[in-house]
Amino acid sequence: MATVNIRRDVDDKFYRYKMPVLLTKIEGRGNGIKTVVPNMEDVARALNRPPSYPTKFFGTELGAQTTMANDRYIVNGAHQADRLRELLDAFIDKFVLCASCKNPETELVITGRGNNEDIHRDCKACGAHTGIDMRHRLTAFILKNPPKKDKKKGKKGMTAEANVGGPVVFDEKEGSNEDDSPSATPAAVPTEGTEIDAMLGRGGDPILDNPDALAKKVKNLDVDDDDEDEDSPFYQLRVWLTENAGPSDAEVVAKLKELDIVTKHKALVEIGHKLFTPENVAKEIEERSSLLNALVTSEKHQKSFLGGLERLVALAPNADDLIASGIVSKILMAAYQEDVLDEDVCINFGTHVSKKYVSKEQSKKVRKAADTFLKWLEEADSDSDDE
Ligand SMILES: [Zn+2]
Repeated sequence: MATVNIRRDVDDKFYRYKMPVLLTKIEGRGNGIKTVVPNMEDVARALNRPPSYPTKFFGTELGAQTTMANDRYIVNGAHQADRLRELLDAFIDKFVLCASCKNPETELVITGRGNNEDIHRDCKACGAHTGIDMRHRLTAFILKNPPKKDKKKGKKGMTAEANVGGPVVFDEKEGSNEDDSPSATPAAVPTEGTEIDAMLGRGGDPILDNPDALAKKVKNLDVDDDDEDEDSPFYQLRVWLTENAGPSDAEVVAKLKELDIVTKHKALVEIGHKLFTPENVAKEIEERSSLLNALVTSEKHQKSFLGGLERLVALAPNADDLIASGIVSKILMAAYQEDVLDEDVCINFGTHVSKKYVSKEQSKKVRKAADTFLKWLEEADSDSDDE
């Protein structure tokens, strides 16, 4: 494969640290156009960083959404290869190279806790510990998705002894069936439909073509009040969402697939409860509208999603303040405007109390706060009647 010096500013063909040349492939068109980096895993391996880091870095620098699922690393929008290679240089400078000796044999180490968390680069070559600029937005992502320690093998892929004078060896994953050819590209994603649909495999995925088969498989789990069981996939989803704040839509879909609950309405309870932050939930529903539209496929799904949101609000430590701030109506408005919830379901939610998801008292408080939205709906209806 074509390689390049990890430090592209070093014009020395005997420079030891090499990486594959970053490749790009533009897919889709119109609003759905996106740039796929087919060899992101190989590039990241050469840098001894998870492939999600440089991908997310591109996203933060370009102000673009990124998706990372099923070994596909995608930046929304059309971006030239040269531009992404320049950004990769910036990533390497900020997050890989030792700030002291500029050697790339470093490891990211997180220290401290809570608000005092800090990330620095531990240099294997000179021993320096040099800090990362914690103002960069990628640092939040790194703290949420810390680098995994390779327990089995220690550092490989960038061992000095192994590759004197040669390119780094990309053999970190034992038995991985990699294709070394840089022209190898992953299977094309359909350009029609949303990216989420593509990830869900709409139109071909046996899971979705055979919901009955899947239903049978998890039938014993799909009854009420079993989701506290640690073996329940819904419980596992909740744990995962709790431990992984702010996953991408693609990561959520990948997790649902892994747990075999893509079509399950009860997954929406956990998503409503755990995917969002209480203070920003309305905005986050807008941002995740394509994910929600893909997952919320029936009235039952809508009700489960609302049940999860009810938990999010009612169980928040500052529930009373949140409710007083009008959050319930804002949530309903956002979900209604994004076509996630139907009018009837919203009205039913706002006019009935239920102890299915929270206590009766909590439910009363939350659902009563829907009245602003219900009034708005009424007015909107009478406006259209006038026309
Ligand atoms: Zn160093």
